[in-house]
Amino acid sequence: MEVVRSNQFLCHRDDFAAWAGGKRRLRMEDFYRWQRRRLGYLMDGSEPAGGRWNYDHDNREPPPSGGGSWPKPLRDSLDEIDRAVCGEIPDHAPGAEPGGWWATSRDGALARLDHFVERVLPGFGPHEDAMLAANWHLAHSLLSPYLNLGLLLPGEVADAVERAYRAGGVPVNSAEGMIRQVVGWREFVWGIYWLWPEQWDANVLGHTRNLPPSWRGDAATELRCLDITLDGVEHRGWVHHIQRLMILANFANLYGADPAQVREWMRARFVDGADWVMGPNVMGMGLWADGGRMSTKPYVSGGAYVNRMSDYCGECRFDPRQRTGDDACPFTTLYWDFLDRHRDVLRTNARMARQYSTLERLADRADMAARARFVIGEIAAGRM
Ligand SMILES: Cc1cc2nc3c(=O)[nH]c(=O)nc-3n(C[C@H](O)[C@H](O)[C@H](O)COP(=O)(O)OP(=O)(O)OC[C@H]3O[C@@H](n4cnc5c(N)ncnc54)[C@H](O)[C@@H]3O)c2cc1C
Repeated sequence: MEVVRSNQFLCHRDDFAAWAGGKRRLRMEDFYRWQRRRLGYLMDGSEPAGGRWNYDHDNREPPPSGGGSWPKPLRDSLDEIDRAVCGEIPDHAPGAEPGGWWATSRDGALARLDHFVERVLPGFGPHEDAMLAANWHLAHSLLSPYLNLGLLLPGEVADAVERAYRAGGVPVNSAEGMIRQVVGWREFVWGIYWLWPEQWDANVLGHTRNLPPSWRGDAATELRCLDITLDGVEHRGWVHHIQRLMILANFANLYGADPAQVREWMRARFVDGADWVMGPNVMGMGLWADGGRMSTKPYVSGGAYVNRMSDYCGECRFDPRQRTGDDACPFTTLYWDFLDRHRDVLRTNARMARQYSTLERLADRADMAARARFVIGEIAAGRM
């Protein structure tokens, strides 16, 4: 028997472990540059194409005014095999009937890759973090399920991006943004999964609450951002990175949900869900359950961030600026309460110093804590 290395990833776990060996802190950016040099993506000799390694700074723009225009994703009708598979799924399984958004064959996956490179890639990047109620896909590639199932290989995706950039039709920030996701983030997450198996069960913040009824589909939620995001998961099994990180994981963390339940919820519901993704992305980056090995500070925020990066808040019944009172946005109330509850763990974190000095100056801390208890009770009861 000959054992060969999988081509579903570009960096074998042994090579990742060798790269990581002896480093005090593992930074994705260092790994990414090492990958770029080693594999030669977007390199002009020994220099990065365009003169910079990273255009992330240009890629965090809020939603464009007027909503922008985005190429429509490909959509197919279900074929005989798709329908037969649907027939096998038990009635109680989560999720709506498939809507044809996802390819189920190699040909379909290749057609999606071509569509992405030709139509979507030139606009990939600037609005990566934006969230719009009327548009679920924006300029995301929607390629993760095929990469994770082996219908597309990361090398062929990265090669296609490189070719399009060299042909002149794609700006460097868009090409670099996509290469960073596929050659950097995806591979980094894969390597970390093998290196830190203990991330799987981590729960440094000691969160134990059950997932709220709205996450099980047993109750509606009044939070518009959460409602839109849960609806995306229900109907497409997919929401984009910032919805996963700053709506779902952020909410679960502020609410104090048991990390293992959040992990299982995402693993079962995302069309691209896989074991290797869960430790680093959910337990590490999303929930900070590993105590900061993956990201130096928790990705938590109040309603102000959601309001800046989306158009969700305008029509919501809550006000993102308020932390107390009937109209207070639950994200905002629970954000300050989260900082207060976890001061023993987070107060000494240098990157949280500004937030804690603001918290300590708040005159309405007792009201905020009382409102937080009320909000948590309402969410747990399926009334909010
Ligand atoms: C809480 C949380 C849960 C997540 N769960 C999953 C999951 O179950 N499966 C999954 O594949 N990704 C997961 N991600 C990572 C990321 O959100 C998805 O890969 C991305 O949203 C998929 O959509 P896309 O193909 O349009 O990605 P794009 O934004 O177009 O990015 C291109 C590709 O880069 C890769 N990629 C980028 N970031 C990551 C990352 N952090 N981890 C792994 N691959 C990455 C994916 O293969 C993706 O297709 C999660 C992130 C968070 C914060």
